[in-house]
Amino acid sequence: GEPIVLEEKCIGCVKCVKACPGSALEIVFTPEEQAILATLSGPAEPEVDEEELERQRLIASYSGVWVFIEQTEGEPARVSWELSGSGRGLADTLGVPLSAVIIGHDVGHLADEAFRYGADQVYIIDQEVYARYRTEAYLEAMCYLIEKYRPEIVLMGATGMGRDLAGAVATRVKTGLTADCTGLDIDARRNLMQTRPAFGGNIMATILCERCRPQMATVRPHVMPLPERKELKPGKVIVETLPLNEADIFTRVLEIIKDKGGKDKVDVAGAEFIVSGGRGLMAKENFYLLEELAEEVGGVVGGSRSAVDAGWLPPERQVGQTGKTVRPKIYIACGISGAIQHLVGMQDSDVIIAINRDREAPIFEVATFGIVGDLFQVVPALTSKLREMKR
Ligand code: FAD
Repeated sequence: GEPIVLEEKCIGCVKCVKACPGSALEIVFTPEEQAILATLSGPAEPEVDEEELERQRLIASYSGVWVFIEQTEGEPARVSWELSGSGRGLADTLGVPLSAVIIGHDVGHLADEAFRYGADQVYIIDQEVYARYRTEAYLEAMCYLIEKYRPEIVLMGATGMGRDLAGAVATRVKTGLTADCTGLDIDARRNLMQTRPAFGGNIMATILCERCRPQMATVRPHVMPLPERKELKPGKVIVETLPLNEADIFTRVLEIIKDKGGKDKVDVAGAEFIVSGGRGLMAKENFYLLEELAEEVGGVVGGSRSAVDAGWLPPERQVGQTGKTVRPKIYIACGISGAIQHLVGMQDSDVIIAINRDREAPIFEVATFGIVGDLFQVVPALTSKLREMKR
């Protein structure tokens, strides 16, 4: 509601204006009041806010963009290279180096990969205790590096490991973290602009971490494009060792049971061609139409949340804000209206083909090609045309 000013108590000190976290207050003085205030306070002296100056000095002492290179048994996660591409752009805008942070055991080979994907320098902690990811161990390593080398930006993939580590690190180094960013940029005051969907995807919010360093963000796989893997130009490698032993870690990894995959396991996030179905498919049985089309283009079948909620598709096939973010070469949306929560998961696809019988459907706003029509006619026609062309 409207703020209530207790007029008999207000002395016009303006402290409330400065203290309001939402910058929502303003005090306007009439010319008469201004004249009285001038006689009371005498000539204005510039206010020196020592605390603010100290904070600015501290912020200025942080420099450089870091990307955490996620690896499992020496195998890097693709999202780390996607982030290296974004980090490169941020570092160039700021005029600072881009560094890759590699933590693990027998991971030296990843340094060269990091250089190929744009890093200027690499920090490595390579010890047996880091052979398998454990929050406590990686937290110690990451915080040690951050406290010693003071980066202004730290990026991690919004994977199981990245989400776990980023939250723990941000808490320990007392800074902010924006999860699941879809856009990263630098503002005029050199702050990281972290954009992500908010309020159930109804708005895109740009979040700043103005008062703390480092600025930390996670980004989901496939949101940022994979940069080109360039010719190797080695940079500086900074090797650090921590006095950390097995006995210091309370968690043991006893066994790793790999997901065996199976017929129903489909990697929607990594697919180059996706045929997606929504509520317009009407029933589970009708998805064979999409399977046939997907088979012709060598793709996989995904879907909207409505299709998943109806039990027509398994949850891992869901595309969107609470599903997978995809970036295929071709995304064919069939009977999907194009709610914002769906769009944020697929709008960066190279080519989007939308089939919907409602010409006003929002999916057409992001579509490269739109087909207004009944999917039960259009999809089989497309499939048979493709079959014909192959022959
Ligand atoms: P509808 O919106 O019902 O659209 C069906 C479309 O099919 C209509 O446009 C209709 O014209 C068309 N159609 C019907 N019959 C035919 C036909 N014969 N031929 C051609 N077209 C036809 N949704 C997601 O998809 N992914 C998410 O990750 C996701 N996360 C969410 C998170 C939150 C917090 C919230 C609140 C919602 C989320 N949603 C998500 C749900 C989202 O808001 C929509 O409800 C959902 O995407 C709608 O699915 P749909 O397009 O399949 O269904």
